[in-house]
Amino acid sequence: MDLFDGHCDTVSRCWGRGWRLRSNPGNLDLERGSRFGAWGQFFALFAAREDPGTPGVEAACRGQYAFFQREMAQNGDRMVHCRTGAEAKAAFAAGKGAAFLSVEGAELLGCSLEGLDWAFQAGVRAVNLTWNYANALSGSCMEEPERGLSPQGRAFCRRMGELGMLVDVSHLSDAGFWDVAETVEGPFLATHSNARALCPHPRNLTDEMCRELARRGAVAGINLFRDFLGEGAGVEAVADHIEHFLDLGGAGSVALGGDLDGCGDRLPGGIAGVQDLEIIAEELLRRNYPEELLHAICFDNLMRVVNQVCTM
Ligand SMILES: [Zn+2]
Repeated sequence: MDLFDGHCDTVSRCWGRGWRLRSNPGNLDLERGSRFGAWGQFFALFAAREDPGTPGVEAACRGQYAFFQREMAQNGDRMVHCRTGAEAKAAFAAGKGAAFLSVEGAELLGCSLEGLDWAFQAGVRAVNLTWNYANALSGSCMEEPERGLSPQGRAFCRRMGELGMLVDVSHLSDAGFWDVAETVEGPFLATHSNARALCPHPRNLTDEMCRELARRGAVAGINLFRDFLGEGAGVEAVADHIEHFLDLGGAGSVALGGDLDGCGDRLPGGIAGVQDLEIIAEELLRRNYPEELLHAICFDNLMRVVNQVCTM
């Protein structure tokens, strides 16, 4: 099975706990990820402002980036930090995983174009405009949800387009989603968001949003956090969310964004970490979905968008 997953919090969790990327007791490590044929993974830099003992989210972002760089240098036999689709292709050809960097919450970059330019130079290729907090760019789905992109938010998105970076709308307000759809020219991402029709949580996407993603050739990654799947959620619920996207024309726009290490042990039964993601494909096979569609969901759809946007 090939896997390209849009979101994990493994870097911030390892950084906070003194764990390592190669092998750790969390949901994802490089040893377990190497079971896949081709393995691409977006690693988020993330810090919440209430994290005790952290000197501030911007400093945490820089600290996690330094940690990520050290870990990549020490594990070059397993995984390579990639900035473009071409670099990922070369990593796969060499039998290595492709690690992409993202930033979850533009406040980690001071919500500024200077911070964004730093992130681009550092090799970050996707940015969530907000996490659960509203910031200078936009309201979030949890705070000031009626507020969309500010002029600063629109300028931030336009600069991301110039740099070949992917705007990530997971955690953004509904108003922000539609402002992004209006502002961004190419495809964008909702890296770890499910279908609100099946689980009415503001973190999830409405049917209209799912259709917009499909229309744009954009991608939504299915989140494994049980609270976003629905109560009692098992692997069947994961497949149900995927099916819902497919019913809305999402064959080219639904992917995986497991939120591993972001949802602790609140994962569906049978999934303890990245090593168990095959059971999602198995469930879809049981429902008679063709192998080609499974490959699109697990790998090709996100790869296509990265190939299209991340060219520098
Ligand atoms: Zn998140």
